[in-house]
Amino acid sequence: MADKRASVAAVIVAGGQGLRARKHDNEPAKQYRMLAGKTVIQRTLDAFSQHPEITTIIVAIGSDDHQYCTHTLEESTKQIHFITGGASRQESVFAGLTALIQHSPDYVLIHDAVRPFVTTDIITRNIKALTSHQAILTAIPIHDTIKKGNAQGQIIETIDRSHTQLAQTPQSFHFSLILSAHQKADSHQKTDFTDDAAIAEWAGMNVHVVEGHRDNIKLTRPEDFNMTEQRLIMETLLARGEARTGIGYDVHALGEGNSVTLCGVEIPHNKSLQGHSDADVALHALTDAILGAIGEGDIGEHFPPSNMQWKGMSSDHFLKDAINRVTLKKGKISHLDVQIIAELPKISPHREAMRQSIATICDLPLHRVGVKATTNEKLGFIGRGEGIAAYAVATIRLPWEDDV
Ligand code: MG
Repeated sequence: MADKRASVAAVIVAGGQGLRARKHDNEPAKQYRMLAGKTVIQRTLDAFSQHPEITTIIVAIGSDDHQYCTHTLEESTKQIHFITGGASRQESVFAGLTALIQHSPDYVLIHDAVRPFVTTDIITRNIKALTSHQAILTAIPIHDTIKKGNAQGQIIETIDRSHTQLAQTPQSFHFSLILSAHQKADSHQKTDFTDDAAIAEWAGMNVHVVEGHRDNIKLTRPEDFNMTEQRLIMETLLARGEARTGIGYDVHALGEGNSVTLCGVEIPHNKSLQGHSDADVALHALTDAILGAIGEGDIGEHFPPSNMQWKGMSSDHFLKDAINRVTLKKGKISHLDVQIIAELPKISPHREAMRQSIATICDLPLHRVGVKATTNEKLGFIGRGEGIAAYAVATIRLPWEDDV
């Protein structure tokens, strides 16, 4: 575990080259481009602001880019401070570290805004490693063979890849040490460092490597955006799963009595629905619709009328059982819709109570439940008031099964 007393800050580098590149065309800089419905920088900031150990975030942005960041400021609950970065990456980081002086963190993680796929695990590994090392480089081993070429395009050397690493960010440091290293580089007018680990090495710090991830890429070329966008959309689709639909129908006769129960709501009437349980046709139809959507038989199979156990039983019991079967399959209810067909009693005054009743039984928000009613225009057995029928449709999301 990381030292609980250590305070951890992050510097996100989002200025420099992107801004200059953007001034020559109408496209926004890479960090402000949309990626599957969210800007790149928002994804990066989410990764850091949602990490429990990071308390302060400094974002070094281009001088004209404050307009893009206002909404991020408002939405975030963490301490995110946008500052104007410098002309180069190194200058932006230095500006970020300088802005952090007043917060005096123990550790600082320095990260590129255009690496939005940094994970909680990578951030945690960096912070944990800082308890025993001064400087951390996130990197992945190189599996391809590396060749060194000359200006004429000829290969002059095959590099031994056994100890080669591909550097990523975050690169993380004891705050006071990396601040001194940057101050020293600044006073020596050394401005050609391409990353902070290089500055740390130059300043004499030992840089320790922690494992990054192949997906933690720097979005640079258009194909990086296309590939990652496809991956994100695919992940979202897989997480949502596939939609299944089930239909249910039920009918019960009206006989002697003084109330009917529909969708779990008791309504005064001069007749009652006849049946083995409370004869709630609407909940029976709905239970069958749910069982149909998950391919688990029907209500009669699970609760046979021949079994005296279910005599007079409140039908929410059957519905809850069906919901429980959905949960066991790791499914989620998208929507439930019930259509009641009754000449009398009048359903409309009770419709909202019925929706609420189903929402409560199924533990769903109200907007995922529909209840409608119609008469049968005095036609047939329903029209003569001999019975009440109900249809129901259930839409359910189940984990993706790639067998279609
Ligand atoms: Mg029934």
